[in-house]
Amino acid sequence: MNPAEIENIRSQFPILAEKIYNKPLIYFDNAATTQKPQAVLDKINYGYKHLNANIHRGVHYLSQQATEAHEAARKFIAEYINASSSDEIIFTRGTTEAINLVAFSLGECTCQEGDEIVISAMEHHSNIVPWQMLCERKGLKLHIIPINEKGELLLDEYEKLLTERTKLVAVTHVSNVFGTVNPVKEIIATAHVKNIPVLIDGAQALPHLKIDVQDLDADFYVFSGHKVYAPTGIGVFYGKRAWLEKLPPYQGGGEMIQNVSFEKTTYNELPFKFEAGTPDYIGSTALAEALKYVQNIGIEKIADYEHELTEYATKRLLEIDGMRIIGTADHKSSVISFLVGEIHPYDIGMLLDKLGIAVRTGHHCAQPLIDQLGIPGTVRASFAFYNTKEEIDTFIEALKKVVAMLS
Ligand code: PMP
Repeated sequence: MNPAEIENIRSQFPILAEKIYNKPLIYFDNAATTQKPQAVLDKINYGYKHLNANIHRGVHYLSQQATEAHEAARKFIAEYINASSSDEIIFTRGTTEAINLVAFSLGECTCQEGDEIVISAMEHHSNIVPWQMLCERKGLKLHIIPINEKGELLLDEYEKLLTERTKLVAVTHVSNVFGTVNPVKEIIATAHVKNIPVLIDGAQALPHLKIDVQDLDADFYVFSGHKVYAPTGIGVFYGKRAWLEKLPPYQGGGEMIQNVSFEKTTYNELPFKFEAGTPDYIGSTALAEALKYVQNIGIEKIADYEHELTEYATKRLLEIDGMRIIGTADHKSSVISFLVGEIHPYDIGMLLDKLGIAVRTGHHCAQPLIDQLGIPGTVRASFAFYNTKEEIDTFIEALKKVVAMLS
């Protein structure tokens, strides 16, 4: 992308014009959440101003309009990730809720005491804890795919973990700590040889990569809207139709039923069977709008530019004495975790903040991984397509000052 294009894009994200402590905001915390373009903000505003009525079954005009908008969003999202039908798109609050849904429903459906779930050493807490809860509830065992020193999964070890008792493999597509892009297509194919279903946590992948769930052959693929320029509180659980038909509902309530009596309740058809309660019909339309925004720029173009930013930032970070990049996989997305000498990451983050630079510090909700690495956490800079090399230069100069102060 050329500078004029980037300037034009930046002008569409109102928050990027904010000043923090009287300094221009440099927002490098995109892996935690992304900023929202005006088109998405307008969509939310328009929804509440002109379309707001509870959806489905409403006979009145507004309800029908809101229902149409919500279902059109579902259809768009299905096409965006190449699901074979919009019935396979379930709206959730985000990645976390989607994983909890699978952990509950699959747990009820296929899991017995002594069965096994396989996850990896680089999972976010949201792809660890729901499985631990299932293990506790049903007496299952959790197995962990190990990693190498670059932050890549050891695929030979992975294969050895798959047994006739493995009920699911749940792996992140992109690590939020290392930025590693995992070879999920291969991981899925390996599990499928043994008829084991696979859930992919796409929270960090969808904003940066083209996702084709049919090409990946993922059984379940989940992501959060807020990490891909949409609002918080909306996300997607994709499941293959055969699985969604087989799994029992996760929550009970309105929307998910066909018929209720005190003697017996029957459940609604897909996708509503998994959507108890009033859905976030404004969030769904805003999510589709955000994905349209990304599509208009072009995901390949975004990936190329973010790769350029990541390479540039890595090269410049290595100018700093004592710099240690945590996660040096061959295939990385736009996340850089680092440490400098013995300086605590929190101190670096605090001082950078005073200079208007937002980075994240800590364990990044991947505490077992950070413990395994024997480090106190990392500083994490993560880029989006609205970031610039000039911002990286300012960040590097600020970091040099901070390091000099703290050394
Ligand atoms: N998985 C990964 C890899 C993530 O980075 C995150 C968010 N940091 C999540 C899951 C959880 O997403 P959410 O909090 O939006 O549910």
